[in-house]
Amino acid sequence: MKELTIISGKGGTGKTTVTAAFATLAENKVLADCDVDAADLHLILTPKELARNDFIGGRAPRINYDKCSKCGECFRLCRYDAISFSEETGPEINEFACDCCALCAWACPEKAISMLDTVNGRWFISATRAGKMVHARLGIGEDNSGKLVALVRRQSKQIAETDKLDLIINDGPPGIGCPVTAAITGVDLVLIVTEPTLSGIHDMERVHGLCRHFDIPALICINRYDLNLINTRKIRNYCRENNLELVGEIPLDPVVNKAQVARQSVAEYDCGLVSQVVREMWKKIKRELF
Ligand code: SF4
Ligand code: SF4
Repeated sequence: MKELTIISGKGGTGKTTVTAAFATLAENKVLADCDVDAADLHLILTPKELARNDFIGGRAPRINYDKCSKCGECFRLCRYDAISFSEETGPEINEFACDCCALCAWACPEKAISMLDTVNGRWFISATRAGKMVHARLGIGEDNSGKLVALVRRQSKQIAETDKLDLIINDGPPGIGCPVTAAITGVDLVLIVTEPTLSGIHDMERVHGLCRHFDIPALICINRYDLNLINTRKIRNYCRENNLELVGEIPLDPVVNKAQVARQSVAEYDCGLVSQVVREMWKKIKRELF
């Protein structure tokens, strides 16, 4: 079984356009939408939910007021100012300020504070016309998205094993932070989708650095390559200097938006130039993977 992750560094480069195209071209695969903060693969693949589960992302303190002696020790110790205190009502925890460090629970002389599991989001298994998909939604303002990405990947791997599938395609999150690391570690191949803008190039270099750090083979694709040919040349040079294969250059074409509005991948929508480029790219990636 092989695993491919598609990342971009910066959001809005067309990563999901490419992922959706591969999803509809690849056979015998499971999809994992690892962009748990702003998942969007489902907009194209219109999934039908098969299973819904809570994501337990951490533990938070809860006060048992029957045990609390209103000593104020938790209030004095909390370094995040997350506990307010009055002698009449005792302590009160502000869950938005709390860092869940557990110091108050550890220090409470009455053992009145317990750390309890918290539901930080949901994850889903859905059926799509391109096969099963695992996706998730992190609760508003919640962190731990790296942990949720790892869970999405674990679940998709389990499906791949049970259904005897050859491939997992991960739509990676934007950026280079913890969720991206969680989406690329241990995969067989990373495709970096970039665009010919200064921020696009900068982010491509950063995510490539991350791949190098984890020793993961990477390929490059330029989306909207004809937007700025000078910057496209810079990306080509970067690939040459770093021995990176440039697997495709997708032109700027309104067909991408038209396909999105029709809730289809560009490979499904028509057989025009963009469709041909992504099909060629997919052939190269398949060769690299298998
Ligand atoms: S440390 Fe424990 S007993 Fe003291 S105020 Fe806090 S919860 Fe109550
Ligand atoms: S868990 Fe830590 S941050 Fe949260 S209320 Fe207790 S001491 Fe403060």
